[in-house]
Amino acid sequence: EEVEENNQTYLIATDVTFAPFEFQNAYGEYVGIDMDLLAAIAEDQGFEYELRPMNFSAGLQALETNQVDGMMAGMGITPEREESFDFSDPYFESGPVLAVRAGNDEIQEYSDLDGKTLAVKVGTTGAEFAGELASEYDIEINQFEDSASMYEDVLANHSDAAIEDYPVMAYAIQQGLELDFPLEPESGDSYGFAVNQGENQELLEMFNAGLANMIADGIYDEIVERYLGDST
Ligand code: GLN
Repeated sequence: EEVEENNQTYLIATDVTFAPFEFQNAYGEYVGIDMDLLAAIAEDQGFEYELRPMNFSAGLQALETNQVDGMMAGMGITPEREESFDFSDPYFESGPVLAVRAGNDEIQEYSDLDGKTLAVKVGTTGAEFAGELASEYDIEINQFEDSASMYEDVLANHSDAAIEDYPVMAYAIQQGLELDFPLEPESGDSYGFAVNQGENQELLEMFNAGLANMIADGIYDEIVERYLGDST
């Protein structure tokens, strides 16, 4: 019997910069937990892909309009997104955290954000969480398309705080970014690889099969340790 060959090159959207999940190394190559895991899974499953780095909200749109075949961008699996996308098995547990300028002790509780400004990244679960806080307190929301601009706004004292995924913020602070967290992170953001609903189901299946293999082989842990050390 003939086996159909899959010669397709899948286009995969990712965030422009979201270390330690996706970021450019000194050679301009995209590396990070998502990027290394995707490469390992593609090799294991024998599929080809090209990356399409773009702002997170642009990625969501590109996926929804079939301009890309998949998206891997530290993307939380949410009920709302599941109405438009099909997700892989979860591969990383995360959650948003509030970040302020290092040394700013004005914000100790979410209620201290009353009368303050909060920087968020458009389309993210963190932005959604900020929206919930803003319905409770008088908070002005400043929207940004990428994480770097959001941090910059807090450092420049234009925004009092930002909301970012905890592992991303922790990594940036460890790299020397002068921000700090006054509160414990929230939980409940499980990252998944996404395809448009009903599309590219074979890609999703290969992702899940490859992910299971990477976990079983210890490659998954090796990749996470590469960026987060063995503290996790
Ligand atoms: N995990 C968050 C989300 O799913 C943020 C992702 C990102 O900024 N790349 O919305």
